[in-house]
Amino acid sequence: MGKVVTKEKEAKKKMGLTTKIFIGLLAGAVVGILLNYAIPASYVRDDIIINGVLYIIGQGFIRLMQMLVVPMVFCSLVCGSMSIGDTKKLGSVGVRTIIFYLITTALAISVAIGVGNLINPGIGLDMNAVNTTSSVGTSPDATSVSFADTILNIIPTNIFNGLAQGTMLQVILFALILGVILAKLGERVGSVSNLFMQFNDIMMEMTSIVMKVAPIGVFCLIAKTFATIGFDAFMPMLKYMLAVLLALAVQCFIVYLGLLKIFTGLNPIIFIKNFFPVMTFAFSTATSNATIPMSIDTLANKMGVSKRISSFTIPLGATINMDGTAIMQGVAVVFVAQAFGISLTPIDYITVIGTATIASIGTAGVPSVGLITLTMVFNSIGLPVEGIALIMGIDRILDMTRTAVNITGDAVCTTIVASQNNAVDRDVFKTSRLDKSI
Ligand code: ASP
Repeated sequence: MGKVVTKEKEAKKKMGLTTKIFIGLLAGAVVGILLNYAIPASYVRDDIIINGVLYIIGQGFIRLMQMLVVPMVFCSLVCGSMSIGDTKKLGSVGVRTIIFYLITTALAISVAIGVGNLINPGIGLDMNAVNTTSSVGTSPDATSVSFADTILNIIPTNIFNGLAQGTMLQVILFALILGVILAKLGERVGSVSNLFMQFNDIMMEMTSIVMKVAPIGVFCLIAKTFATIGFDAFMPMLKYMLAVLLALAVQCFIVYLGLLKIFTGLNPIIFIKNFFPVMTFAFSTATSNATIPMSIDTLANKMGVSKRISSFTIPLGATINMDGTAIMQGVAVVFVAQAFGISLTPIDYITVIGTATIASIGTAGVPSVGLITLTMVFNSIGLPVEGIALIMGIDRILDMTRTAVNITGDAVCTTIVASQNNAVDRDVFKTSRLDKSI
C-alpha cells in the first residue's frame, strides 16, 4: 500500500512535468515558426541554431530514450513473464485471463492500424526534410531479407550479441524464457528474481530522470520541425491525436463493451458508469499501477466481481495488458511511416501487431513508458525513431487517455473471466444500477 501511495505522489509530481512538456511544445512551435517565417536564412539560423543547437539537444534526448530501451524492456519482460509463470497457481483462470489480455491487445492494434489508415495522419507531412541523419540505432532485425530469415532471426545464437545490437525480438524471446524459468524454480533462484525486480525499479527511476529533461528535448525537436516545415506540421499532428483518440474510443466503447455483453450478458452502460471514477483517476495520474486498489474495490463493491479473481488479474493486467498503449503505437507506426514516405507491407503490419503486443507486456504502468517501448516497435520494421519527436510533444494528454483505456481493458477481461467462473454477484451489479449516487 505504501508503494501505491508513493506512486500516486510520483504521478502527481508528473502532472507538473506534463505542464512543462506542453509549454516546451508550444514554445518550440512558436520559436520554430519564427525561425521559419520571420528570420531570413543565414549561417547562424541554419547551421548554428537549427542544425546545431536544436539538432544536438533534440537528438541527444532521443538517444537518451533509446539508451533505456534494451535494459528496460529486458528487465520488465523478465519480471512480466515471471508473474505469468505464477499463473500456474491459478490454473485455468490465469491462462484464460492471459489469453483474453493478448487477444484484446491484438484487437486494439488492429483497430489502431485501421483507424490510422482511415485518417492518414502523416500524409502531407514530409519528415524527410527534418531528418538530416540516417536513423539512429535502427535494429538489424529490420534489415532481414527473407521471411524465413526473419523468423529464424528471432532465436539468438548469442544473446549478448542480441543485447549489444538491440535486436529486440531476440531480447524479448530470451527475457520471456528466462522469466518463466525463474517463476518455475521459485525460491531456489529467489536472489536472481529479486535482482531483476530491483534492476527493473532502477530502470523506472532512470526513465523518470530522463523524462525530467523532456520539456527541453521536446522544445528543441518541435522547434526544429517547425523551423524546417512551418505550418505544414500542425494538421498532421492534430490528425494523429484525433486518430489515437478515435481508436481508443472504438476499443473502449465498441470492443470492450461488446465483449462484455457477449461473454457476460451484463449491461455495458451500467458497467462503464460504475467504472467511470476509476477511469477518471487513471486519466489524471497516467499510471495504471496506482489504480490497482481502486479497480479491485470498484469491481467488488459495484460490480460484484470476486476479489479472489480480481486481486490476481488486475495487478497482472496493470503489468502486462496495455491496450491503450498498443493503440497509440499502432497509430504512431502508420503516422510516422506516412510522414517519412515509407510504405508498409502486410508482413510489416503483422510484425507490428506482434511487437506492439509484446511491447504492451513490457510497458510498465507508469507515465510515458509507452513512448520508450514504441522505439522497439519502430525498430522491428525499420521506421526511423526520429518520428517520435513529433509524437512526444503531444503525448501527455494521450498518455492520460490511454491509461484510462488500459485499466478498463483489465477490468472488462476480469469481469468476463470472473463471470465464466461464476464469481460475479449479479445482485450487486443490479443494485448498483438503482444507486442514484453512483
Ligand atoms: N501510462 C501508461 C500506463 O500507466 C503506460 C504508457 O502507455 O506509457 O498504463
